[in-house]
Amino acid sequence: CGIVGYIGPKDAYDVVLKGLQRLEYRGYDSAGIALFNNDQLKICKTKGKVSDLNNKCKTEKITSGKIGIGHTRWATHGEPNDINSHPHVSNSGDLVIIHNGIIENYEPLKEELTKRGYNFQSETDTEVLVNLIEDVKTKENVKLGKAVQIALNQTVGAYAIAVFDKNKPNEIVVARLGSPLAIGVGENEFFIASDASPFIEYTNKSIYLEDGEMAVVRLGREVRIRKIKNDKLV
Ligand code: GLU
Repeated sequence: CGIVGYIGPKDAYDVVLKGLQRLEYRGYDSAGIALFNNDQLKICKTKGKVSDLNNKCKTEKITSGKIGIGHTRWATHGEPNDINSHPHVSNSGDLVIIHNGIIENYEPLKEELTKRGYNFQSETDTEVLVNLIEDVKTKENVKLGKAVQIALNQTVGAYAIAVFDKNKPNEIVVARLGSPLAIGVGENEFFIASDASPFIEYTNKSIYLEDGEMAVVRLGREVRIRKIKNDKLV
């Protein structure tokens, strides 16, 4: 399983798709990509191989974006099928997430969110997390980075995640606990990946998040890293 992300002047589709191919060795059953382009968030995902994903995206003409995240899934919650594949989108349609790992307490969180009016398309723990982030963000009226931090403090489990808000397509928030995550820093561009292999051809500057760290990766400024627990996120 693997995650890849890109923001910058290159076409996110090409970078992310190639990145997913480089991460195929990690094993997976499904693959997917989210791209934001011309004010629209587009998702393309499928059970099967990255080559199947490429064919599907080409057929659906979802092949370019200013920002993109991609995922290869190794199913833990919900069978491998198109709907359970990542990325997952929050109920408002604004937030999109990819996740490797397991949110162990997703059931009580899902129950609580269901009571608060949220509904779920998939059987995954991941879709619960993206809606928890959205719920926190709306309730507390905080920025995405802070919302991710608060939400993760309510979870038990393991994760590498990348999240973005389609209303703020110059920023990706990432976090890791128990699954690897690296950030590649280029000239006015950033790469996110499970390991450096998807971006070594573009930059030799990489930041490896430590377990329990998160980062806000925004175009035009330095990467800001914080501890997920008890640390102030600017
Ligand atoms: N637990 C998530 C799922 O089943 C992520 C699995 C993975 O690590 O790819 O969808």
